[in-house]
Amino acid sequence: MKPTTRHFKQELPRHLHNLQMRRNIMKATWHSLSKRAQVVSEVPEWESLREQAHQIKKQIIDDLEANLKKFEENARSKGIEVLFAKDAREAIRFTLEIVERHGINRIVKSKSMLTEELNFNEAMEAHNLEVVETDLGEFIIQLAKEPPSHLTGPAVHKSRQEIAQLFQEKLGIPYSEDPQHLTRVARKLLREKFLTADMGVTGANFGIIDNGSIAIVENEGNARLCASLPPVHLAFIGMERLIPGYSDLPLFLKLLARSSTGQKMTTYVSTIDGPRSPNSLDGPENVYYIIVDNRRSTFLEDEHLKQALYCIRCGACYNTCPVYQNIGGHAYGWVYQGPIGAVITPQLLGLKEAPDLPFASSLCGSCTDICPVKIPLHHLLLYQRKRIVEAGLTQTGEPTAIQLISRFLRSSSLYSWLNSTAYLFQKITGGKLPLPGWSKIHTPPRIEKPTFKEWWQKHHTTTESSNE
Ligand code: SF4
Repeated sequence: MKPTTRHFKQELPRHLHNLQMRRNIMKATWHSLSKRAQVVSEVPEWESLREQAHQIKKQIIDDLEANLKKFEENARSKGIEVLFAKDAREAIRFTLEIVERHGINRIVKSKSMLTEELNFNEAMEAHNLEVVETDLGEFIIQLAKEPPSHLTGPAVHKSRQEIAQLFQEKLGIPYSEDPQHLTRVARKLLREKFLTADMGVTGANFGIIDNGSIAIVENEGNARLCASLPPVHLAFIGMERLIPGYSDLPLFLKLLARSSTGQKMTTYVSTIDGPRSPNSLDGPENVYYIIVDNRRSTFLEDEHLKQALYCIRCGACYNTCPVYQNIGGHAYGWVYQGPIGAVITPQLLGLKEAPDLPFASSLCGSCTDICPVKIPLHHLLLYQRKRIVEAGLTQTGEPTAIQLISRFLRSSSLYSWLNSTAYLFQKITGGKLPLPGWSKIHTPPRIEKPTFKEWWQKHHTTTESSNE
């Protein structure tokens, strides 16, 4: 089934009425924001680091084809097999060929939004393969059969009690809300899966052009185990995830850890350098990269949108977005959520499949301010709105209504007339606005008397008279 977010508006009330989920999201995002604020305040050169990262990503993306070629050549020279997948279907086909070649049955997997985008787990399960999510958050939502609701915290929408209940139901353990106990239970179960897995699947935070390695950033050590214990390691890499060299890694690690989890440094940073050599004590015998386009190249054709490819998936724009904080990730209807999701989803799925997402923003600009690679997110949201309007994808009557409103707002006399009429209407109807659809989720603003203009005129005149 083709992914779509066309039901965003219809689904919204369901998410807004889920107060427990909203409380969980609000708590988690505020916690991350306050930790981030603390560690960012310790870096006086933060703004110049953001600018540096922006310029580096710009250079990479402006010459992406050549950079990918270099990255591929360097990876191949280390014995890594590199495949380019133009879309999700091709990426899955390549994976199934690898599965067939190595007789794989069980796959352990670390967190990767790209694999969510490819619908990886469902595709593998349809071929009777077992896929085990090993990141604790992903493990929880796999048990709950739910998609992730945040880039870095897939289970942030769940409370401790909900997780305790889930573990009791699905794993048959006594109810416990103790996070350490629940983590121990998951670890024990996962350890056995790691030891018996035929292939480990990871994403990649960064592809390092000048030597063909990838860097994986995490806090639990599960990605490192996925990449080193099973005999085959497969890494999915979004084609935009490149940085020039190892010397640039500290800059991006500094920005990423502080922006995403409010840490100075994540617990693990692993670099993958190819299959084990004859002298190595451990490591996979075969390493594959699947570099995925899946419509990313369409961003390159657009001077504005190509900036969205600078994203390092830190999730800070989610945390700071008042819309995300209130509706949660699942409301967006697909893998990428929050401000960056509202920018890239219409491009990745096509405008017709996500005509409402760019409008899910107050345009306050907080996302732009927080982004560690200085993506002008709220400008891109406006840009996507413009494209959607020009493509005629807004609701029938909406452009006419906007034109009418703008007419009233530009004329002082028309505006005053509208105000008085609306005030009269409000008195007759008791403040209820019977607009189909709109009234269900909106409360009309109250029109007060005197209006600000009337109050100002009176006050101004009085002040002027008293000064005379
Ligand atoms: S757009 Fe910026 S803030 Fe949002 S996830 Fe990407 S890098 Fe982070």
